[in-house]
Amino acid sequence: MQIAADTVIRFIEGVAARLKQHRDELTQLDSAIGDADHGANLDRGFTAVLAKLPSVADKDIGTILKTTGMTLVSTVGGASGPLYGTAYMRAGTALVDRFEMNEHDLVLALEAALEGIQARGKAKRGEKTMIDAIAPGIDALKAALAAGSEPREAIRLGLAAVEGGVQDTIPLLATKGRASYLGERSIGHQDPGATSALFMAQVLVETLDTLS
Ligand code: ADP
Ligand code: MG
Repeated sequence: MQIAADTVIRFIEGVAARLKQHRDELTQLDSAIGDADHGANLDRGFTAVLAKLPSVADKDIGTILKTTGMTLVSTVGGASGPLYGTAYMRAGTALVDRFEMNEHDLVLALEAALEGIQARGKAKRGEKTMIDAIAPGIDALKAALAAGSEPREAIRLGLAAVEGGVQDTIPLLATKGRASYLGERSIGHQDPGATSALFMAQVLVETLDTLS
């Protein structure tokens, strides 16, 4: 599978549109265990990213992703801004000077993104955060590729694991971020950040599905 820089631009545009579309849903989830701003935070951040995209339209994938990350860090006040911002910046660092990438590069970029989130937020799996959606997705994608699945199929299996990971946040007790202030009362609610990660994963799969 060959993924070019213009595909990465379409992915980012798709993420911005999807997050805007689901802004109220993300805010609803965050009102149950946070401060009701997750949808607004990400919509603000990705709207700013959209405004920056023309300046990187002919640049390498690394520059596109690093610009996305830096814009998120500088425009989103909530925890998710620095966390997603670091994720996109680290993914960009993994793909510096590249105008094309394949599924193995995608795995490396996603792993770098996850490491960035963990370095920044110090959360592990099982703490009811975006990590509980992203980490199982990367595991499933890697396992499927290692087992010989076609890239498209492997990516779909990755998405199914992200969906499962989001559902699995519901019974978890939050021990990081704002939701942790609720203690036991955080149990029984789906994590907003895991849900926004699922929207990004859906757009990734849909964007890659359009490639021949
Ligand atoms: P804030 O909590 O500052 O209002 P947001 O509402 O935008 O920020 O984002 C909340 C989401 O951020 C949570 O649902 C969770 O998934 C994620 N999150 C919070 N803290 C961490 C952390 N330390 N590591 C990973 N993800 C985190
Ligand atoms: Mg919030």
